[in-house]
Amino acid sequence: MIEQGFGPGVSEDPEERKARSSDFGGMTTKMPGAVATPKNVEEVSDIVRRAAQDEVRLAIRGGGHSQGGQSLTDRGWVLDTMHLNRVQLLEGGLVRAQGGSQWGTIVDVLRGTRQLPRVLVDTAEVTVGRTLSAGGMGTTSHRYGMQIGQVEQLEVVTGTGERVRCSRTENANLFDAVRGGQGQFGIITEAWIRLRKVGERLRQYELRYRDFDRFASDFEQVIGEDRFDRLRAETRVHDHEIIMSAGVEYDEDHDDAKALEGLGYDEIISTRDTAEVGHAGMYLRWLFSRRHYYPWRDWFMPWETLRTVLDQPWLDRDWVPRSPASWIGIYPIKTRAIDAPLFMHPKGERMFSYHILAFLNQYERAHELAGRLKDITGTLVGLGGKSYLSGGVGYGRKEWEEHYGEKLEMAIGWKREFDPKQIFRGEGMPFG
Ligand SMILES: Cc1cc2nc3c(=O)[nH]c(=O)nc-3n(C[C@H](O)[C@H](O)[C@H](O)COP(=O)(O)OP(=O)(O)OC[C@H]3O[C@@H](n4cnc5c(N)ncnc54)[C@H](O)[C@@H]3O)c2cc1C
Repeated sequence: MIEQGFGPGVSEDPEERKARSSDFGGMTTKMPGAVATPKNVEEVSDIVRRAAQDEVRLAIRGGGHSQGGQSLTDRGWVLDTMHLNRVQLLEGGLVRAQGGSQWGTIVDVLRGTRQLPRVLVDTAEVTVGRTLSAGGMGTTSHRYGMQIGQVEQLEVVTGTGERVRCSRTENANLFDAVRGGQGQFGIITEAWIRLRKVGERLRQYELRYRDFDRFASDFEQVIGEDRFDRLRAETRVHDHEIIMSAGVEYDEDHDDAKALEGLGYDEIISTRDTAEVGHAGMYLRWLFSRRHYYPWRDWFMPWETLRTVLDQPWLDRDWVPRSPASWIGIYPIKTRAIDAPLFMHPKGERMFSYHILAFLNQYERAHELAGRLKDITGTLVGLGGKSYLSGGVGYGRKEWEEHYGEKLEMAIGWKREFDPKQIFRGEGMPFG
């Protein structure tokens, strides 16, 4: 590691800097002035203190999977959490994981224990610290909501370098600021995550619907009956069909006919059975090439807009690539357990995530699509939706005010308290 003027643990090595100059989205490049890869929490505190003293901007980086340049900085330092990856199973249905741990590592550590996090994301490589600073949804969200509602306690290094434990009863303001706080108030260095019991095997069905209204009725029915353990859907606009992916975890016997009884799908595309209950719902790394551009957007929509969204009058088939080069997906999400005030979502007992995820190999096309997705945001927000801040949203002041509403003032107050020197100031974020 080449360390020059910035002190221990902070490197000016051109290769290290170049490796952190782009993100998964591939739409933005920024060259950091230096890179820090702390080996433990003490080093995190030390680096944050020095950055605060010198008023240097610190961009936090987990796996670099963001799509809007959130983990990038021009001239500031990138603090990469890659070495904060310790995972430990605790008594009482909890796992303790450092902020840079990947969700796939947690699944590996829990192998054989018949337990998994209540909500798992669909990609092994994204990190705990990031999804807890965004929200974190997955195929069990119809039961358990978002990951931010399923943590007991966090350890955070604030913008002054202080190392603080927080929970719903201890330092509750910090706990509320960092969950869904986009890394603007501190670095999540450790999380105590709730687990659930899982079945020995998973049986997954892919059901094709050509009638969108019938799909919506079935979707509502199976959620209402709590029939499936895993649930998501994909709309294929070019073929005018929806695929419902539904999974059942089981121990001994399983009855296909009973699981699918009364549903009005056109055909079963596949039935898969596996003992890999944890990794089964996760996409494989090789699906995503670093040479593509990913101008992805996600929104949370009021449940009652499901049929309107499925009709997608705004979606032009000519510019959204045909599946599998685009994934237009839906996760049903229960809202009751979501208690993080800075995670903005529609009211109501249930909502759904709607995402348009396209892979493009031409920058110009990707840029054009990003512009159209911004226009679509206006329509979806007009229907009562909220943007998921995991990708880039390109919001200005007015849109942020609309997004956060009365919570904005509270968040600005927390920013002054927890990051007074604004070292975690994210470009385009409204709290500074
Ligand atoms: C292939 C793919 C699949 C995805 N699947 C899902 C999914 O199933 N469910 C879902 O909810 N999201 C999903 N996402 C979105 C994902 O949550 C975000 O893209 C996220 O940015 C990826 O995590 P990362 O660790 O790579 O973050 P990075 O890009 O490294 O970090 C982005 C920002 O997160 C914040 N951050 C990172 N680590 C910390 C920390 N320790 N403490 C505080 N703030 C931190 C910082 O602001 C940082 O700049 C997916 C993204 C991709 C690319």
